[in-house]
Amino acid sequence: MASAEHFSFNADIQQLMGLIINTFYSNKEIFLRELISNASDALDKIRYISITDPDRCRLDLEPNFRIRIIPDKVNNTLTVYDTGIGMTKLELINNLGTIAKSGTKAFMEALQSGADISMIGQFGVGFYSAYLIADKVQVISHSTSDGQYVWESTAGGTFSVTEDTSGENIPRGTKIVLHLKSDNLEFLEERRLKDLIKKHSEFISFPIELQVEKTTEKEVEDDDEEPENKETPKDEVDIKEEGEDKKDKKKKKVKEVTTEYENLNKTKPLWMRKPEEITKEEYAAFYKSVSNDWEEHLAVKHFSVEGQLEFKCILFVPKRAPFDLFETKKKKNNIKLYVRRVFIMDDCEDLIPEFLGFMKGVVDSEDLPLNISREFLQQNKILKVIKKNIVKKCLELFSEIAENQEDFKKFYEQFGKNLKLGVHEDSTNRNKIADLLRYHTSKSGDEAISLKEYVSRMKPEQKDIYFITGESKQAVANSPFIESLKKRGYEVVYMIDPIDEYVIQQLKEYDGKKLKNCTKEGLDLEQTEDEKKKLEEQKASYEGLCKLIKEVLGEKVEKVQVGQRISDSPCVLVTSEFGWSANMERIMKAQALRDSSMSSYMASKKTMEINPNHPIVAELKKKSDKDKSDKTVKDLIWLLFDTALLTSGFSLDEPTNFSNRIHRMIKLGLSIEDDKVDEEDIPDLVKDDRKEGETNKMEEVD
Ligand code: ADP
Repeated sequence: MASAEHFSFNADIQQLMGLIINTFYSNKEIFLRELISNASDALDKIRYISITDPDRCRLDLEPNFRIRIIPDKVNNTLTVYDTGIGMTKLELINNLGTIAKSGTKAFMEALQSGADISMIGQFGVGFYSAYLIADKVQVISHSTSDGQYVWESTAGGTFSVTEDTSGENIPRGTKIVLHLKSDNLEFLEERRLKDLIKKHSEFISFPIELQVEKTTEKEVEDDDEEPENKETPKDEVDIKEEGEDKKDKKKKKVKEVTTEYENLNKTKPLWMRKPEEITKEEYAAFYKSVSNDWEEHLAVKHFSVEGQLEFKCILFVPKRAPFDLFETKKKKNNIKLYVRRVFIMDDCEDLIPEFLGFMKGVVDSEDLPLNISREFLQQNKILKVIKKNIVKKCLELFSEIAENQEDFKKFYEQFGKNLKLGVHEDSTNRNKIADLLRYHTSKSGDEAISLKEYVSRMKPEQKDIYFITGESKQAVANSPFIESLKKRGYEVVYMIDPIDEYVIQQLKEYDGKKLKNCTKEGLDLEQTEDEKKKLEEQKASYEGLCKLIKEVLGEKVEKVQVGQRISDSPCVLVTSEFGWSANMERIMKAQALRDSSMSSYMASKKTMEINPNHPIVAELKKKSDKDKSDKTVKDLIWLLFDTALLTSGFSLDEPTNFSNRIHRMIKLGLSIEDDKVDEEDIPDLVKDDRKEGETNKMEEVD
């Protein structure tokens, strides 16, 4: 045997192995499911290559695609042997020890916050579950593009890889030899293994064969010698007289123990069976095997399409979103594509749109060619039709879930963001997906409602659907923007998820009603003739103040006008219909990697809307009418602007100026003499010409 090379495990993997070995955990049996699942993946890969590039597969040396489970009670080892793609020397080193995946850390964090070890498969580190029951593991692998190598580790931070020149030749594939810890010998028992495979691995699409012992009785002539049989062990059992022997020779019966392989998963693929004959438990078991999930699915849809094009499909909605749901770099392997029962690939991007990336399942096409290449798949018409059908069925399934409020709540908590992404991405199905959205509103209380429900209870004269975007329910519920709407009894939809900003970019209408953002321009409320007249009058009489405010604030606002959307606050800052809202500006600022060039032309252009019915505004008008250059008026305008920035959901550009103004107000309130004030603290605007005693004027306003 060649000499061994030694390697250290990656630090994260080492820590993970430590956890697996040292954590007290009773559900150790899951190791077998994980290893069989890896074996099945390796077989999927080689079977696909055997169709596309048969010369690479060593098919002449190993024609079978199968998994064998071999218990050895003499050496206390359990071997999982697959005839899959195998691993090269480098793959053994990289895949089983030196390269940690994002799931390694994520799994440990999940464990720390109470996750169960059986979840390991979802995090892509299932192999290490071998150390739940073994203190030494050997992986003997023969890749189709390398020689035969043995990986070996007793954990403890290191592993070795050695070229295997003297061991038994494996024509193709991988043998995982588990040297069982003394308290885990139950995993050598035939009954236990059979139950386990039935429980966890029934739907693996390659034969799983268990090596079992068969005892047969055989008659042999008794010539007082041990019967000869060199190949298989033999137990001698009770010797029985066979009555009169003609030749006067005694015969005896011996029990002969031979080993053979018994196939444990003969069932035909679940998707080929009739849905009405499949139990919920069978679907659950199948779901677990395709998804690596430890929990059952939330909902399932099993259907077939016939006619010009034929395929069968099972789609599952999981109960939870995976830890890396929106990690775009990671290849998704959620829908397995089969062609006439042969697994083709599990990362076909053209099978399901991104927003449905959380769905799991299988598709089995009768029409696609077996040796299909990725490039071919991309523009394949059949695949396009399959994809369209899958989306349609997914949406049907979601509507079915929506019939049960509790289930839908769970679903929406986990995948609501995906639906919103769907509204953004999928113009064909936008309206259907919008039906599934749920929002809290100014009238919804604790339960979120659908837009349909909103529309059904709109006021008779109400034309549009009103919504407000913002950071939290509390912030929007108390926002000045919705004051008048609430007073009029109109319901306002609260959109407080950052992704809602993307939803409303695309969702302009629902059920023939426009969606109107309360924080933006163009919110024209229905008015009576009297109201219209009053507004016109107010506009005229406040024109002077509006002009003055614009003069004071300069570039900070686009324009200043009398508005109708506020009733209790003095003013708000609304943004233009097509630019960013205050909320969007906040979201974009929070994105570290955003392209800053966008902000210059998308950043919100603000219009100040003043409330003529508010005493502060009325008083301000009086003062400015009296003396346009009254410094207190200017000071107050800045204060109003800064507070409006905050209540309208913007951030302050110059918080120090703002707080200095507030501090001066506080001092006024506390009647503190202001002559000790550090002049540097006062914003430029008022610093140059503030006169003594002037501050008293502000008290009047307050
Ligand atoms: P996962 O299978 O989820 O990627 P694992 O930790 O179980 O994570 O396995 C790590 C990698 O080792 C696999 O991605 C695969 O490349 C390789 N591997 C594991 N078992 C086998 C096997 N039986 N045959 C071939 N490759 C394997």
